Amino acid sequence: MSRDITEERIGKLARDHGFELCRITKPAIEPRYLECYETWLAAGMQGEMGYMAESTRVERRRRPSTMLDGVRSVICVAMRYSPPPYTLDNANARRRNGVIAAYAHGHDYHDVMKKRLKALARDLDALLGAHDQRVYVDTAPVLEHALAESSGLGWQGKHSLTIHRDFGSWFLLGELFTTADLAADAPASQHCGSCTACLDLCPTRAIVAPYLVDARLCISYLTIEYRGHIPHRLRPMFGNRVYGCDDCQLVCPWNGKAKAPDDDILSPRGENILPDLASLLQLDDTAFRKRFSKSPVKRTGRVAFVRNVCIAAGNSGYADLIPVLESLSDDESPLVRAHAFWALARLAGDDADMRMHLTAIRAGERDHEAREDMSITMEQTRINHE
Ligand code: SF4
Ligand code: SF4
Repeated sequence: MSRDITEERIGKLARDHGFELCRITKPAIEPRYLECYETWLAAGMQGEMGYMAESTRVERRRRPSTMLDGVRSVICVAMRYSPPPYTLDNANARRRNGVIAAYAHGHDYHDVMKKRLKALARDLDALLGAHDQRVYVDTAPVLEHALAESSGLGWQGKHSLTIHRDFGSWFLLGELFTTADLAADAPASQHCGSCTACLDLCPTRAIVAPYLVDARLCISYLTIEYRGHIPHRLRPMFGNRVYGCDDCQLVCPWNGKAKAPDDDILSPRGENILPDLASLLQLDDTAFRKRFSKSPVKRTGRVAFVRNVCIAAGNSGYADLIPVLESLSDDESPLVRAHAFWALARLAGDDADMRMHLTAIRAGERDHEAREDMSITMEQTRINHE
């Protein structure tokens, strides 16, 4: 296969389908990525994402050649999305509003990318002739950032995401595994240098070492994937982030230079940019599904999402959110009740009547875990106020 076909025709087809970046590599993971992955797993940094430690999936990540019989090449593609239309300081200052990660301001990228990758695969069938292929977006056991760096698409930053010189890290990755023997591109070189901005700024210190993000501390994982009670000590660090976290990207100097794409395929919606916390707290299940229709936020579900919004409300400092939080005290979800309680305790301050009211709520709580959560809240706020 000549490089003309691999670089130009495949690249052009990828661009036609909305993938501005496209590079080719071989189905193998460089030892240094594997070492990092092993360290991450051994330390249990995958948190409750049990599937990450499941042996078959671990083996697939280690050896991408097991993803498809006879696979000989991996086409790595990236779909760009608009950076957030605010700075980190602006977002932090808008405490009455929640921050949703930029990639989730519009349509669900899983749906959009999968559809486009499949369309690209159909065109590749015509171009490459007899070959077998499979497409992957995010959820498959693929070390996508390692493959992206090997393909030259970009380098893996110390925050673990892939960075491109011109586009920063505001893009999503997809892979197309094929049995066609394509010419590989040269790997990317590292350009983080001595910078440690993302490690220094991360609100929860989740980037425990370069390239090593402890999911158990990462706001992105905790607000999107994790369905349980958020550890009390981390809640104040969440600030007003209600779905994901872009902080390590916003502080990255390579993103300071990145331009927004001319055409954002994910179509960001204005209503998802710094939405009002009070209105989010009032979403019941039907309203939540409607509000986040076709959005990746919908996949997290109303309960975990409102849990996150309660934390943001508790961190807001706005006591006028108390009535709407009180209305969640008898929410059908114990998780929501416990986090609304935490927010109320934060906003109540030294108000003696409010503290008595909270004591009564806790006494009446019927769910064991929620009650435990409330007890910790009472204990911690009591300590804070003494
Ligand atoms: S997403 Fe947020 S919490 Fe996670 S590593 Fe980046 S800055 Fe830290
Ligand atoms: S902030 Fe600095 S260290 Fe972190 S990914 Fe960007 S360039 Fe690399």
